[in-house]
Amino acid sequence: MSTPRYRISEAQLRETFSELRRCGNGRRECQVLWVSPGGDPEAITEVIHPAHVSTAVSFDLEDRWLVTFFMRLAKERVGVRMQVHTHPGRAFHSATDDRWPIVQTPGFLSLVIPGFAKGSVGFEGAYLAELDGSGKWRSRLISDHIEVAR
Ligand SMILES: [Zn+2]
Repeated sequence: MSTPRYRISEAQLRETFSELRRCGNGRRECQVLWVSPGGDPEAITEVIHPAHVSTAVSFDLEDRWLVTFFMRLAKERVGVRMQVHTHPGRAFHSATDDRWPIVQTPGFLSLVIPGFAKGSVGFEGAYLAELDGSGKWRSRLISDHIEVAR
């Protein structure tokens, strides 16, 4: 089964950037999660900003928040489809990014936004990776997996 092409609204994409900018404040990494229902996984319905601590070059989700969040996902039958996080400079998948995805299912996607997301809202300079069946990340074309609904 090929990895879906997720649909996100322009408002959700703006919300993604505003969260990354607000929390990161041009100084710290930040992450948001794109969530959708199990019955219609391609339609992103929520942009979630997890409780985390971060520095200019790293972030760690809070364990207690994660436990509550995963319980909610199971109860509401929704899933995390994509993690979106910032880097200070260039977007790529770092060794740490490779090691600690929030979801470890093959097909999970990880989008990295350069420059603490302070550039224009969109995917210029962004980097997308997909987790494959052997636990390795593969570079992917953003337009194959993300559609911004007009
Ligand atoms: Zn944050």
